[in-house]
Amino acid sequence: MTTSRRSFLASMASVAAARVLWSESPDQTVFPWGAPVIDCHFLPRPTLQANLAHIDGSGCQAAYLLAQLRSVDDVKRFMQQEPAQLPGYSTSTDVTAPDAIALLTAAVKAGAHGFGEVKYHVACDSPEMRRLYAAAAELNVPVTLHFQEVPHTATEGVFNTGFKRFNKMLEAFPNTTFVGHCDAFWANVSADYANQSAYPRGPIVRGGITDKWLSDYPNLFADLSANSGNNALTRDPSFTAGFLKRHRDKLFFGSDCSCKDGHGGGVSQANNPGASRLAGKCVARETLTVLKANTAPELFRTLVWENGPRVYKLQMTTA
Ligand SMILES: [Zn+2]
Ligand SMILES: [Zn+2]
Repeated sequence: MTTSRRSFLASMASVAAARVLWSESPDQTVFPWGAPVIDCHFLPRPTLQANLAHIDGSGCQAAYLLAQLRSVDDVKRFMQQEPAQLPGYSTSTDVTAPDAIALLTAAVKAGAHGFGEVKYHVACDSPEMRRLYAAAAELNVPVTLHFQEVPHTATEGVFNTGFKRFNKMLEAFPNTTFVGHCDAFWANVSADYANQSAYPRGPIVRGGITDKWLSDYPNLFADLSANSGNNALTRDPSFTAGFLKRHRDKLFFGSDCSCKDGHGGGVSQANNPGASRLAGKCVARETLTVLKANTAPELFRTLVWENGPRVYKLQMTTA
């Protein structure tokens, strides 16, 4: 059997299995995490099988893809093959290119659900980002932002800097839906953060701007992905459950995990030395475990299945 024939049959079997699971067994016990889960921060892998290996391996039912513009054709092909498991995508391209907005506008008109993840070497209130926020409001799609002010390696640099001023953008673009993610976003959950490290541990000083802005601005949402999200949920156990409850309409699950199999195989955090805490582990599994331990079943389902599809306006196959 050719590889393509084999993969076609495998994908059909997988679709059939998902449909049986969802349509005939709505009982939550069929889901490994007790509720269906969509991983809303999933960087696409080069083959359909590699994408499904992580979705299935981590016990999730679906993933929302954050794709660079150059990989959108692949993503669309994967989605056609597995529409139930891959219900949508955001896309991103270099915001400093003169034609960035034209390209992203065309991408939304061709099916993208949002801009993201947006990760370039500019300030979060730069002219390039402002025009992106305006275009997102015009098109009525969310913008997923990677905020990082401490480099992970000597050559990596920083992205969307100036997070402490970001409230000005939330105010200037009230019709833009923002989804925050990454180190600076999550470290600022503590009021004492001053870019001293990418992933501060230890007790959270209450009143951090991330916590405050999620309450104050209806247009700010967050995905709980990566080591940064997991770190914020695990560094101070007395903080976690209240935070999740307080922002129950604003937060949703994502992993940003790069492990191969949904069990920590391969490299889970792109060899980022600061994230070695999660080396050899699947970030999806780690964060779902924390979420489950800190929520009642109804809230867990809201965070892992309902909020992400609502923000990204996805048509989900199951209830
Ligand atoms: Zn990111
Ligand atoms: Zn993983």
